[in-house]
Amino acid sequence: MAKRQKGQLIVLSGPSGTGKSTVIAQLLHDRPDIYFSVSFTTRKPRIGEVDGVNYNFVDQETFEAMIERGEFLEYAQYVDNYYGTSLKVIEEKRSAGVDVLLDIEVQGAAKVRSKCPDAVMIFLIPPTFEELSCRLHSRGTDSEEVIAGRLQKAREECKEIIHYDFLVVNDEVDKAVSQITAILMAQSCRTVYKMDILDQMEGV
Ligand code: 5GP
Repeated sequence: MAKRQKGQLIVLSGPSGTGKSTVIAQLLHDRPDIYFSVSFTTRKPRIGEVDGVNYNFVDQETFEAMIERGEFLEYAQYVDNYYGTSLKVIEEKRSAGVDVLLDIEVQGAAKVRSKCPDAVMIFLIPPTFEELSCRLHSRGTDSEEVIAGRLQKAREECKEIIHYDFLVVNDEVDKAVSQITAILMAQSCRTVYKMDILDQMEGV
């Protein structure tokens, strides 16, 4: 029997307010076979966010104990909060042949890239910084101070784009999702992900 291929690791980064969550929701709707990794964070839930769905919300002590126990594939501090990806969940899903999507910021993405060089790295940007500022304000969930911090952070994050494999501009959600779908389709056609077919051909 052909050996099951390990699931792909898909990293999606982009400044806060780029519309990543909307793009991800539509992508997962179109591709229900992809598993979305629910991160751990010490950030407080925003209105409408659900524990275990948007994030696993934990306190700083719990997060630091998880760091000590080596339970994260990666973690980072972002605007005064910790965010991290569970190593165990990612390994289990990928070993079962399931593709896993991570929504993570640039420091975490750099760690993933060094630990998993086969990860497909996609960066999502807003059409302009003015648009990003408008989106952060219209969300109405963060103070002016937090928004200013996020805009500053966005400028720094965009300097890391060069380390990503693909760049997608989120001017229209449908267009961004179809570009990401095309990237994933091309990635899945790489020879390295077709070893099951090659194994079968050996017996022919
Ligand atoms: P937000 O607070 O707006 O939900 O997320 C802030 C940033 O943290 C976003 O850029 C998001 O991609 C990133 N993030 C979410 N989960 C993780 C994670 O597990 N690890 C890292 N490194 N970043 C994360």
